[in-house]
Amino acid sequence: MTERETTAASRPAAGTFPADAASGPTTFAAFAVSRHRLQFDGAGITTLVTGMGCPLKCRYCLNPICADPDYKPRRFTVGELYETVKIDSLYFEATGGGVTFGGGEPLLQAAFIRDFILYARERGARWRFAVETSLAVPEENLGLLTEPEILIDEFIVDVKDMDAEVYRRYTEREPERMRKNLARLAALCPERITARVPLIPGYNTEAGCDCSERELRGMGIASIDRFRYILPKKKKA
Ligand code: SF4
Repeated sequence: MTERETTAASRPAAGTFPADAASGPTTFAAFAVSRHRLQFDGAGITTLVTGMGCPLKCRYCLNPICADPDYKPRRFTVGELYETVKIDSLYFEATGGGVTFGGGEPLLQAAFIRDFILYARERGARWRFAVETSLAVPEENLGLLTEPEILIDEFIVDVKDMDAEVYRRYTEREPERMRKNLARLAALCPERITARVPLIPGYNTEAGCDCSERELRGMGIASIDRFRYILPKKKKA
C-alpha cells in the first residue's frame, strides 16, 4: 500500500459551482492545468485539468479550493483548452498519455468534456482521455461520457469506501449515486475502471478496505488502487 498526503482537515461548504453540467455551458471552470504528470492520473504523460465544484464534503478534502466561493477560476472554452494542452501532444502520443480531468468533480462539467474530446479528435489528436471522479453525480452526466463515440479511456473512481455508513460519515452524503453509477459503469466497461480505495484514519480500517476491494472485484473491476491517507500532524483526527 502506498501513502498519500492529504491537505485539509476542514473545508468550505460544498460548492454549488458550477450549477449543472449535463446541458452546457461550453466553458470549463478550472483551478489548475498541470503538465507532465506521471503515474497518478492515468497512463503515460498526462496534463491534469482540475475543475471547480464538488457534491461531496470529504473530511480530509485533497482540494478544498474547488469549493471556495471566493476563488476566481479560469474559464476555458473548448478551443482555448485545446490550444493550451496541445503543446504536449507529442509527449501524449509517444507515451500513450493525454488529458485527465480531475477536480473537484469534473463530471459536473461533463458536457464540456464531451465537447472537448470531440473537438480534439476532429483535429487529429490521438490522446488518451481520463477522468478522476467520485461518480457522485446525476446519471445523465455520466451518460454523456459513455456514449460509444465518446467513451472515456479511463475512469479513475475515487470510491472512498463501499460501506454505506463509512461513506456517509466521511463524505456527508449518501452513497446511492456513486453506487448506482459505478454498477452501471462496471457493467459497461470494467476494464476501463481503476477504483481507488483509501485507508482513511478515523473512518475505516484495513479490514473494511478489504471488504470494499472484494465487492469491487465482484463487480468485475480488476484495477484496484489501495493506499493510505497521511494527515499533516497538526490536522490529525
Ligand atoms: S471528492 Fe475530492 S474534491 Fe470532492 S470533497 Fe472529496 S476529496 Fe474534496
